[in-house]
Amino acid sequence: MIYDKNNIFAKILRKEIPCNKVYENEHSLAFDDINPQAKVHVLVIPKGPYVDVDDFSKNASKEEIASLMHAVAEVCKITKVSLTEGGNGFRLIANTGPDGCQEVPHFHYHVMGGEPMGLRGLRKP
Ligand code: AMP
Repeated sequence: MIYDKNNIFAKILRKEIPCNKVYENEHSLAFDDINPQAKVHVLVIPKGPYVDVDDFSKNASKEEIASLMHAVAEVCKITKVSLTEGGNGFRLIANTGPDGCQEVPHFHYHVMGGEPMGLRGLRKP
Protein backbone atom coordinates (compact mmCIF):
# COMPACT_ATOMS: atom_id res chain seq x y z
CA MET A 1 0.00 0.00 0.00
CA ILE A 2 1.74 3.16 -1.21
CA TYR A 3 0.82 6.49 0.38
CA ASP A 4 0.07 9.27 -2.14
CA LYS A 5 1.74 12.40 -0.76
CA ASN A 6 -0.39 14.57 -3.03
CA ASN A 7 -3.78 13.51 -1.66
CA ILE A 8 -5.98 16.38 -0.50
CA PHE A 9 -5.61 15.69 3.23
CA ALA A 10 -1.79 15.62 2.92
CA LYS A 11 -2.09 19.07 1.34
CA ILE A 12 -4.28 20.25 4.25
CA LEU A 13 -1.67 18.92 6.72
CA ARG A 14 1.06 20.82 4.84
CA LYS A 15 -1.20 23.93 4.93
CA GLU A 16 -1.22 24.12 1.13
CA ILE A 17 -5.03 24.00 1.30
CA PRO A 18 -7.10 25.62 4.07
CA CYS A 19 -9.48 23.81 6.37
CA ASN A 20 -11.95 24.78 9.06
CA LYS A 21 -10.08 23.32 12.04
CA VAL A 22 -12.17 21.88 14.87
CA TYR A 23 -9.39 20.33 16.99
CA GLU A 24 -5.69 19.51 16.81
CA ASN A 25 -3.24 17.62 19.00
CA GLU A 26 0.31 16.33 18.50
CA HIS A 27 -0.56 13.50 16.12
CA SER A 28 -4.07 14.33 14.88
CA LEU A 29 -6.12 17.01 13.14
CA ALA A 30 -9.91 17.42 12.92
CA PHE A 31 -11.72 19.71 10.48
CA ASP A 32 -15.17 20.22 8.98
CA ASP A 33 -16.07 18.13 5.94
CA ILE A 34 -16.27 20.44 2.90
CA ASN A 35 -19.49 18.73 1.76
CA PRO A 36 -21.32 17.99 5.02
CA GLN A 37 -23.94 15.22 5.02
CA ALA A 38 -25.22 16.13 8.51
CA LYS A 39 -25.37 19.16 10.83
CA VAL A 40 -22.17 17.90 12.42
CA HIS A 41 -19.74 16.34 9.93
CA VAL A 42 -16.13 16.45 11.04
CA LEU A 43 -13.17 14.50 9.66
CA VAL A 44 -10.54 13.29 12.14
CA ILE A 45 -7.18 12.34 10.61
CA PRO A 46 -3.75 11.24 11.83
CA LYS A 47 -0.89 13.55 10.85
CA GLY A 48 1.16 10.54 9.78
CA PRO A 49 1.01 9.05 6.26
CA TYR A 50 -1.51 6.21 6.64
CA VAL A 51 -3.73 5.16 3.75
CA ASP A 52 -6.60 3.61 5.68
CA VAL A 53 -7.70 2.20 9.03
CA ASP A 54 -5.94 -1.10 8.32
CA ASP A 55 -2.60 0.62 7.57
CA PHE A 56 -3.04 2.85 10.64
CA SER A 57 -3.88 -0.02 13.02
CA LYS A 58 -0.91 -2.07 11.84
CA ASN A 59 1.76 0.62 11.46
CA ALA A 60 0.97 3.59 13.70
CA SER A 61 2.55 3.92 17.14
CA LYS A 62 0.52 3.48 20.34
CA GLU A 63 0.84 7.23 20.86
CA GLU A 64 -0.61 8.00 17.42
CA ILE A 65 -3.50 5.58 17.94
CA ALA A 66 -4.28 6.98 21.40
CA SER A 67 -4.00 10.52 20.04
CA LEU A 68 -6.50 9.85 17.26
CA MET A 69 -9.06 8.29 19.58
CA HIS A 70 -8.60 11.18 21.98
CA ALA A 71 -9.18 13.58 19.07
CA VAL A 72 -12.44 11.76 18.19
CA ALA A 73 -13.61 12.13 21.80
CA GLU A 74 -12.67 15.83 21.87
CA VAL A 75 -14.48 16.49 18.59
CA CYS A 76 -17.62 14.79 19.94
CA LYS A 77 -17.38 16.98 23.03
CA ILE A 78 -16.75 20.22 21.08
CA THR A 79 -19.61 19.55 18.64
CA LYS A 80 -21.91 18.49 21.51
CA VAL A 81 -22.83 15.09 20.05
CA SER A 82 -21.18 13.06 22.81
CA LEU A 83 -23.68 11.11 24.95
CA THR A 84 -21.48 11.60 27.99
CA GLU A 85 -21.60 15.39 27.46
CA GLY A 86 -25.39 15.61 27.14
CA GLY A 87 -25.49 15.13 23.36
CA ASN A 88 -27.65 12.69 21.42
CA GLY A 89 -25.02 10.46 19.81
CA PHE A 90 -23.26 10.25 16.47
CA ARG A 91 -22.03 7.93 13.73
CA LEU A 92 -18.29 7.15 13.41
CA ILE A 93 -17.28 5.87 9.96
CA ALA A 94 -14.00 4.82 8.32
CA ASN A 95 -14.65 4.14 4.63
CA THR A 96 -11.93 1.78 3.45
CA GLY A 97 -10.82 0.92 -0.08
CA PRO A 98 -12.95 0.58 -3.23
CA ASP A 99 -15.76 -1.48 -1.68
CA GLY A 100 -15.86 0.90 1.28
CA CYS A 101 -16.19 3.83 -1.18
CA GLN A 102 -13.10 5.59 0.25
CA GLU A 103 -12.34 8.64 -1.91
CA VAL A 104 -9.40 10.26 -0.12
CA PRO A 105 -6.46 7.85 0.43
CA HIS A 106 -5.42 9.27 3.81
CA PHE A 107 -7.05 7.52 6.78
CA HIS A 108 -9.91 9.51 8.27
CA TYR A 109 -12.84 9.01 10.57
CA HIS A 110 -16.10 10.76 9.77
CA VAL A 111 -17.90 12.00 12.91
CA MET A 112 -21.50 12.65 11.86
CA GLY A 113 -24.46 13.73 13.96
CA GLY A 114 -26.36 16.66 15.36
CA GLU A 115 -29.58 15.11 13.99
CA PRO A 116 -30.93 11.58 13.35
CA MET A 117 -28.58 9.97 10.85
CA GLY A 118 -30.82 7.35 9.20
CA LEU A 119 -28.78 5.91 6.33
CA ARG A 120 -26.59 8.98 5.91
CA GLY A 121 -22.94 8.11 5.72
CA LEU A 122 -23.84 4.49 4.94
CA ARG A 123 -24.51 5.17 1.27
CA LYS A 124 -23.16 7.87 -1.00
CA PRO A 125 -25.66 10.68 -1.69
P1 AMP B 1 -14.27 9.27 1.94
O1 AMP B 1 -15.27 8.97 0.85
O2 AMP B 1 -14.54 8.50 3.20
O3 AMP B 1 -12.84 9.15 1.45
O4 AMP B 1 -14.54 10.77 2.36
C1 AMP B 1 -13.80 11.85 1.90
C2 AMP B 1 -14.46 13.08 2.46
O5 AMP B 1 -13.56 14.16 2.32
C3 AMP B 1 -15.76 13.49 1.76
O6 AMP B 1 -16.82 13.50 2.70
C4 AMP B 1 -15.45 14.87 1.20
O7 AMP B 1 -16.55 15.76 1.27
C5 AMP B 1 -14.31 15.32 2.10
N1 AMP B 1 -13.40 16.31 1.53
C6 AMP B 1 -12.82 16.30 0.31
N2 AMP B 1 -12.03 17.36 0.15
C7 AMP B 1 -12.09 18.08 1.31
C8 AMP B 1 -11.50 19.28 1.77
N3 AMP B 1 -10.66 20.00 1.00
N4 AMP B 1 -11.80 19.71 3.02
C9 AMP B 1 -12.65 19.01 3.79
N5 AMP B 1 -13.24 17.86 3.41
C10 AMP B 1 -12.97 17.40 2.19
